[in-house]
Amino acid sequence: MKRVYLDNAATTPLSKEAESAMAKYFSEEFGNADSRHADGRAAAAALSSARERIAHCLNASFEEIYFTSGGTESDNWALKGAALRHGRGRLAVSAVEHPAVFESAKQLERLGYGLTVIPVDGECAVDMRAVEEACRDAFLVSVMTANNETGRIQPVREIARLCRSHGVLFHTDAVQAAGCLPLDVRELDVDMLSLSAHKFGGPKGFGVLYIKNGVRTEALLSGGEQERGRRGGTSDVAGAVGTAAALCEAVRCMSSESARVRGLKEGFARRVLGGISGARLNGTLDKESSLPGIVNFLFDGITGEELLFSLDLSGISASNGSACSAGSSEPSRTLVAMGVSPSESKGAVRFSFGRVNTEEDVSSAYDALFAAVNRLRKM
Ligand code: PLP
Repeated sequence: MKRVYLDNAATTPLSKEAESAMAKYFSEEFGNADSRHADGRAAAAALSSARERIAHCLNASFEEIYFTSGGTESDNWALKGAALRHGRGRLAVSAVEHPAVFESAKQLERLGYGLTVIPVDGECAVDMRAVEEACRDAFLVSVMTANNETGRIQPVREIARLCRSHGVLFHTDAVQAAGCLPLDVRELDVDMLSLSAHKFGGPKGFGVLYIKNGVRTEALLSGGEQERGRRGGTSDVAGAVGTAAALCEAVRCMSSESARVRGLKEGFARRVLGGISGARLNGTLDKESSLPGIVNFLFDGITGEELLFSLDLSGISASNGSACSAGSSEPSRTLVAMGVSPSESKGAVRFSFGRVNTEEDVSSAYDALFAAVNRLRKM
């Protein structure tokens, strides 16, 4: 049985370009980028070149790109670094942030910072009036570029404008958007932006935090002088090289791939909504406001857990929303914020399409889903 992977929002396979670019840095060119000898200098040159290429993809400057261990660290650093520098005060995050942002904000709240949670509407769009309100007394606002469960794209440029006019720092978690949407940090006018390499064909355990020149923030990981003294720890040269290769490839292929992947998702969604009774869409399929690859449904009378189990047995890999909470029996915070009842939200299933998928996958997944829903409803 050929498996169909529809969980590209959880992770993607390493791209061939990234794999071949990385290979020699594990063995032949293994130097420590901080060593002064020739081996170290070769590693430092590879690290610089990767930083330059990533900066170029984001229209950032070389010195605004910081390497981290993934999206989680980038998000933690953005929030906690700003909070540490500020010392006290209030931050605001949307109700549908990934736990890397949301739990960081909660931790800061436990430490005495104020926390405003910005609500979303039934289609997962942030309430712009609440953003404006939050700007009045927050030192930092964090709203993701696109949501990992519903694929909803947030109006990041407008939020940045509001933050700028109130003198508030703005961070966006662009982990799901990278490789799917153009990300130009100058045009978006954000202060900080997080990426995670494994979501766009790069290696797992490598991330990027863009910090605009002049933004004042503290280090999260104290240690050596790496990352211009702002993030200690021996540099992962292979990770940086693989991330640069994957990001450049994703950006180069973005317009054609996004259109192709969106076509697959829309075809699948049309069949599900038209062919399976009691199937409901969480979020929107609108081109301007949804990521190309993510779609999220509820199926009346069935729990997501049993449906995912049944799909898995039929060779389909999907998810209940967030890989990080996949083992949890808690209702989805995102769906509850959108007004779905906690019990109904347990019926949610996310299908996320990506570069590995084909039209054939859409048909196999639909047939398996149709059969599974009918079988489970008869039980
Ligand atoms: N932010 C979002 C929106 C995500 O979807 C994820 C991963 O699922 C992360 C952050 C965490 O990234 P990482 O897996 O690199 O720690």
